[in-house]
Amino acid sequence: MRNLIKKVYFYFLDRALINKFFLWRQEPGVTILTYHSVVPDSAPIQKYEYRNCVTQQQFLEQIRFLKRYFKIISLEEAVSLLKKGDLKQHYAVITFDDGYKNNYLYALPVLKEEKVSATFFLTTGLIGSNDCLWTDWITYLLFHSKNSVIELNLPDHHFHFELACEESRIRASVMLRSFLKMSQSGNLQNVLDQLKDQVGDILPPVQGDPDRYSFLDWQEVKAMNDAGMDIGAHTHNHLLLRMLSDEQAYFELSTSKKLIEKNLGKSCLHFAYPNGGRNDFNEKHIAFLKELGFKAAVTQIPGINRPGMDLFRLKRINISNKMTLPVFKAYVSGAYNKK
Ligand SMILES: [Zn+2]
Repeated sequence: MRNLIKKVYFYFLDRALINKFFLWRQEPGVTILTYHSVVPDSAPIQKYEYRNCVTQQQFLEQIRFLKRYFKIISLEEAVSLLKKGDLKQHYAVITFDDGYKNNYLYALPVLKEEKVSATFFLTTGLIGSNDCLWTDWITYLLFHSKNSVIELNLPDHHFHFELACEESRIRASVMLRSFLKMSQSGNLQNVLDQLKDQVGDILPPVQGDPDRYSFLDWQEVKAMNDAGMDIGAHTHNHLLLRMLSDEQAYFELSTSKKLIEKNLGKSCLHFAYPNGGRNDFNEKHIAFLKELGFKAAVTQIPGINRPGMDLFRLKRINISNKMTLPVFKAYVSGAYNKK
């Protein structure tokens, strides 16, 4: 119900041209958008598993709106403008996290048709593999489990999940992912092994739902690079940096950068922190990024970037499946998210 009220509210906000007013009132800045997946228009976009997806049609409408009210620029241009402090209008930067194959299949055609560039941050360990993100594994296994009771035994923790309805599967997924994000990376494989043992006979994610879960291969990454897209790093295994020792974190950062450079034959200058919250990375990680030659890094801290911003803590606005076009307009024009 709250969602419906929100949608109606944003619809009227849009009709009343309030979004334009907010945009006009704002100081010029750089709005960086985070996408993850663009899926076919026929995809079950309302499902929880699709919370970070937009359909191809939604993506096209969003890009067209941005083109009307913002100048869409590359992340490299944005970094250079922020450094100079020379912003004369509203700019937008399109970014994609993780490295899903649907970026190539459904986002790239729209970007090419609309003649705009984007940065794609890759989890390099998954490129060209039949595997998917550990966070996706957890949600997928809990949502597709044939058994309605799951018991997980860890050295210092026990989980008992009853997966009777969709709500309980969502709760279990949120709880388990949050627990793992707060603990050391050693628990992760243990949890995945126990879950896989208990869910019954189901297809793995990339076979069960390829449009949602499959990853790019290097051929596709090269084609995106050739089409003028920027390719950035997003670690090798998508482990949160705070889950890792300094040595492990350095390995994750340097490996993802090296693999991209080796495959594309050019420098990889930009990085996106997995999860990207304020506490998911620290000064040491920023020092590693600088030492490795990165020029900027994006977070998931919401907001608009102004001159003087720390280029290794750039803010972004996450685009989810809940954003109707009026909600999207309100977010990117600052009428809703004023942080
Ligand atoms: Zn990610």
